[in-house]
Amino acid sequence: MPAKNSEYRPNFAVWDLTYACPLRCEFCYSESGRRKPRHLALPEAIKVASAISSLNPNCVLIAGGEPLIIRELSPIMRVFQEQGIKTVLYTSGWLLDESRMPSIVEDFSEVRISVDGATEATHDKIRGRAGSFYRATRALTLLSEAKAENPQLSFGIECTLIQENFNEAAGLCELSRDYPGISSVSIGVALPLGLASRKSYAELELLTEGQWATLRSRDFKESLKRSISPPARLDLNDGSYYSEWWMQVEPDGGVRGVPLYEGVVGNLLERPSIELWNRCLERQRDPFVLNALSQIDTMEKWAEASRAIDLRFGTEATRQRILARPEYELPSSS
Ligand code: SF4
Repeated sequence: MPAKNSEYRPNFAVWDLTYACPLRCEFCYSESGRRKPRHLALPEAIKVASAISSLNPNCVLIAGGEPLIIRELSPIMRVFQEQGIKTVLYTSGWLLDESRMPSIVEDFSEVRISVDGATEATHDKIRGRAGSFYRATRALTLLSEAKAENPQLSFGIECTLIQENFNEAAGLCELSRDYPGISSVSIGVALPLGLASRKSYAELELLTEGQWATLRSRDFKESLKRSISPPARLDLNDGSYYSEWWMQVEPDGGVRGVPLYEGVVGNLLERPSIELWNRCLERQRDPFVLNALSQIDTMEKWAEASRAIDLRFGTEATRQRILARPEYELPSSS
C-alpha cells in the first residue's frame, strides 16, 4: 500500500542501478567503473522497485553507473509505471543506440544525456574516454527523432560545470539547437562529492569562488537562456539544493542516510521502506552532519565536510576505498 501522507514520504527517489560504467569521469560521485557493480538480479531488483514505489514518490530517477548496462530494465520500470510514478533515465548515452530506443521510449518519461563540453576534446577528457562525445550526441539525435513520433517523451542535456568547461556553458546551451524537440538544458555545478571531494580535485578543478558567484548571477543565467533554442528551458543548479525529502538508493537496495554521501541506514530488501525513510530523516538531522554542512561556503570547505561525513558513516570497506583514492593531477598539457 503506497504511503499517502506527503510529510512521510520522499518527493523523489534516485536509484543508482549499478556501479558499472564504461566511462571514467574524473568527478564521479559514485566512483563507478572502478568498483564492484553491485547490481541485483531481476527478481531482487523488482522487489527493490516495489519497496521504493510503496513510498509513492512523485518521480524515480534511474542513474548509476551506467543504467543501460542492465538489459532487463522494462520489468523494473513497469513497477513504477503501474503506480503512476514518473521515471527519468540519467545516462552518458554510451550504450544508447537504435536497438535500445523502442524500450527506452516505453520505459521512461524523460531521458537526460550527460554532455560536459561544447567540444569533443573537452567532453572526452572530462568523461575519461575517447568517443564519448560522439556517443552522447548520437543519443541526442536518436531521442530527437523518437520525440517526433512520441510527443510524450521528454529529453534534455545535463551538464556538470568545473573550471575546465566553465567557459563552454553558453556553447553547450547552443548545442541544444541541433536537437529539435529537446525539452531542457540543465547546467549544474560539480559538487564536491565522491571523487570530486578529493582535496586535490577540489583545489584544481571545482569552481573557483568567482566562477561560483558568476553562476549565481542573474546576467549569467540570462545569457545562457538566450543561447537555448525555445521552447527548451534552462535549469540552473548552483549547488544550493536541499537534501531532505529525497531518498537515494544504492544498486543493491541499500539506502543512503544522507543523499549523495556515503553511509547506508539499511537495505530495502531487508527492512520496510518507511522505517528506512525515517532513519534517513534522523541521519540528516544528526548533529555531526548538520555541523559539517553548516560551513560549506567554498568548494574546498564543502569537500572537507564531504570527506568527514563519508569517513564517519561509511563502512570500513568504504573508508579503505576513500583513503586509497589517487590524488588528482592536472594533465601535463594543461
Ligand atoms: S558516466 Fe556517470 S557514473 Fe559513469 S563515471 Fe561518469 S559520472 Fe560516473
